[in-house]
This record gives sequence, structure tokens and C-alpha cells, in this order.
Amino acid sequence: MISFYPGPSQTHEKLPSYLNEAAKTGILSANHRSKEFTQLSKNTITLLKQKLSIPKNYTILFTSSATECWEIIAQSLILEKSYHFFNGAFGKKWFEYTLALKSKAEPIVFQAEETLNPSNYQQLSKQAVLCITQNETSNGTQVNQLTLKKFRELHPQSIIAIDATSSMAGVKLDFRLGDVWFASVQKCFGLPAGLAVMICSPKARMRAEQVNENSHYNSLNYLTRMIEKWQTTYTPNVLAIYLLKRVMENSKPIAQVHNQTLKQYTFINQVMHSTSARFLISNEKVRSYTVIALSAKPKKISDLKSKARKTGMILGEGYGELRSKTIRIANFPAISSSAYKKLGLFLKANFPK
Ligand SMILES: *Cc1c(COP(=O)(O)O)cnc(C)c1O
Repeated sequence: MISFYPGPSQTHEKLPSYLNEAAKTGILSANHRSKEFTQLSKNTITLLKQKLSIPKNYTILFTSSATECWEIIAQSLILEKSYHFFNGAFGKKWFEYTLALKSKAEPIVFQAEETLNPSNYQQLSKQAVLCITQNETSNGTQVNQLTLKKFRELHPQSIIAIDATSSMAGVKLDFRLGDVWFASVQKCFGLPAGLAVMICSPKARMRAEQVNENSHYNSLNYLTRMIEKWQTTYTPNVLAIYLLKRVMENSKPIAQVHNQTLKQYTFINQVMHSTSARFLISNEKVRSYTVIALSAKPKKISDLKSKARKTGMILGEGYGELRSKTIRIANFPAISSSAYKKLGLFLKANFPK
């Protein structure tokens, strides 16, 4: 079976051997204050910085999920206000989780087909935290790098926090455009769920000191102090960190991965144009490279899903209110180009022009 589900997604083809290796090395029984663990932690962080082109002076933290990162940002970085730009279910959830902790969280909703224009939002409170979902997994849209750059220029004093859960490790991101970036590993990294990486700029660390929130096991100041010793504030998911290290060792630099992702995206686009299938999002400027959403009638969708299963392919369901009306296809590095060829033939056969 090959899964095109955009998370949890198809795992890396070498995962079985990495799992085996992890069990044999003894790392899974090592104490998380031991030399073995701190070495693993240090190597993994160094590799992430190298392979994903993350600036040297940024801090990388291990957390359990993207959801945990939402809460860390709310508790440890918001002085007073946060603004949440969203057009879909994940951005909305982020807003709701924040609102539960910080009553001044404010939603800024835009349309799925709309190209977000930062010039329309110049009057925001100066030291706010701006929360942006770079790749909205629920509807297959993205906020492009030029838009992020404009936000950065217009809000030099703000903390810009970016959810890149379904794009990090699949496309090249300019980490200088944000202060906090995070992703859980069950999407583009091709790993099992249970781990996320949170990447903080020096400015984010300064803000955390200013907020001075120190009441939680995952307070940002505490996490930062511990990772300076390559440690975590609780017993971490050592297996997942090990797997992340192995996948990073095996992966090409992000610029090359990015090209491959775009190549695969172009291929899917060409297939789509030669069929009668429809994209959920017609504005190409906002369509995601890594999560592709097709729209069709509910009956057609359920037929397709069961037909695909019979040929060894799992198509992603729609998410939230789009569940019955869309199919989502992950364009992630762990899925081979032969799998996309097979999918292409399937789509052509089922959506004749
Ligand atoms: C999957 C996803 C999440 C949630 O990730 P968890 O690891 O379940 O917390 C958050 N944001 C986006 C954009 C996602 O795709």
C-alpha cells in the first residue's frame, strides 16, 4: 500500500531498517541525561540546520507535536496580543487553542482563494505575535515567501510565528522571515507521529525572557536552557529523534528536495489538466506545493477512495467540513515518482476528459 494521505503520511522507505538499528544500538535504553543521548540530540540538531538551511544562531527544540508548539507560543511569547491569519481548519484551531489561554487573541480570516496582502494589515499592535499557517493542510493553500517577507518588513517589532507542519522538509523556507517555525514530523519528514521541531530566532528567545513565563515544563525559557546542554525538560521521544537523525542523514540538501517537490507538483498539474478533475483551489498563486486538494461530488469521492484502495493506493480524505467533498494528495519527499505515475494513470482513467 502506498499512502497519499497528508499526515500521518507515507513513512520513509528505510524506516524498518532504521527502527531495527535503533533497537540494536542501545540508544532506546540510554538515560536522557547521558552522553549517548546528548550526542544524538546535538547531531540531530546540527543535521537539521545543515540540511534545511536553518541559520546557525537559531535554536532548535524538540517538542511532542505542532499542537504543543501552539501552546508554547501562547504561554511564553505573547505579551498582550496575538493575531491569527487563517483561511482553514488548522489555522483556526491554532487561534482557538491560543484564545483558550490568552483572551486577547484576535482572528483575521481570509478566503481560501485570496492572496493574503500584508499591506492591508499595517495597523496591528506593534509588539504582537503574528501567527501564520504557511501551508494550510486542510484546503491545500500556502502563504508564499514574498508575502512572509512583506510581513517581516512591515512588522519589525513583532514576533512572527509560522506553522510549517506540512511544508517543512519538503520545500525550501527562508527561516530569517520568521521568529518561530514549527512542524510535527508525521507530514513532510515521512516519520511516525509523536515528535515536532520548534525553531526559534534570537529575537524569539529575547521575547521569551521579556515575557518571563516560567511556570510550565514546556516554558520556552526552560526548554531553551536545557537544549543549550542538548537536553530536554522531560524524557523525550528518543526513538523519534533517532529516526529523525537517520532520515536527515539520508536526505539531500533542501534546495534539491525543493526542486524535486516542484517537479512532482508540475507533474500532478499536467495530469490534472489532461483530465476532467478539478482542483479545490483555482488560484494557482495560493495553491500549496505539498498538499494538493481535488474537489468532486461526495459520491464520486467515496467511489474513488475505494477504487484506489483496490489498486494499492490510499487517497487522503478531506479535512473538517471539506471531508466529503475533497480528496487530498500529499506531495511529500517519502513518496516515489513511480507512485505519482501510478496515481496519474488512475486519475486519467477515472476523470476522462
Ligand atoms: C497536522 C497539522 C497540525 C497538527 O499537528 P499535531 O502533530 O497533531 O499537533 C498543525 N498544523 C498543521 C498545519 C498541520 O498540518
